[in-house]
Amino acid sequence: MGTKAIEVAGPGAKETVELLNKALADEWLAYYQYWAGALIVKGPLRPDVQKELKEHAGEEFKHAGMLAERIIQLGGTPILDPSEHAKKTNCGYDAPKDPNVEIILAQNVKGEQCAIGAYFSILQKLKGSSDMITLNMVRKIMEDEEKHEQDLQDLQDDIKLAKE
Ligand code: FE
Ligand code: FE
Ligand code: MG
Repeated sequence: MGTKAIEVAGPGAKETVELLNKALADEWLAYYQYWAGALIVKGPLRPDVQKELKEHAGEEFKHAGMLAERIIQLGGTPILDPSEHAKKTNCGYDAPKDPNVEIILAQNVKGEQCAIGAYFSILQKLKGSSDMITLNMVRKIMEDEEKHEQDLQDLQDDIKLAKE
């Protein structure tokens, strides 16, 4: 942890750690959902979709790392037991049981839209707090989630056009 960092972050640091741990659960599950989806996906544009899903998996994994490091800086403990992920998640986990590319993409779009909403709500809560570092980190992650949403929706458009 960082004692000065905690002091500067202000009295809300404990509550922030809770929010970040919930986001960490989301990121871990999003990582796994993309990772598993990339393995089993079938259908039009499969190579493009697989590449995008793998990339997103890597980015969600990176987000998990950013959140965990900030949690530690703020004197908290990141989730250590994977059974906690399902309990703390905001956005849940949608197992890619159907390999159909359109279904996989729709599941992941839903996940990204939930993530955008969840990060937006963290930003709202941090607005006015002195913890600019967390605020800035959450903004950066949210920016990535908006790109993810767009990438997936672009693929949905391309698949629709390819089928016409
Ligand atoms: Fe993410
Ligand atoms: Fe994402
Ligand atoms: Mg992408």
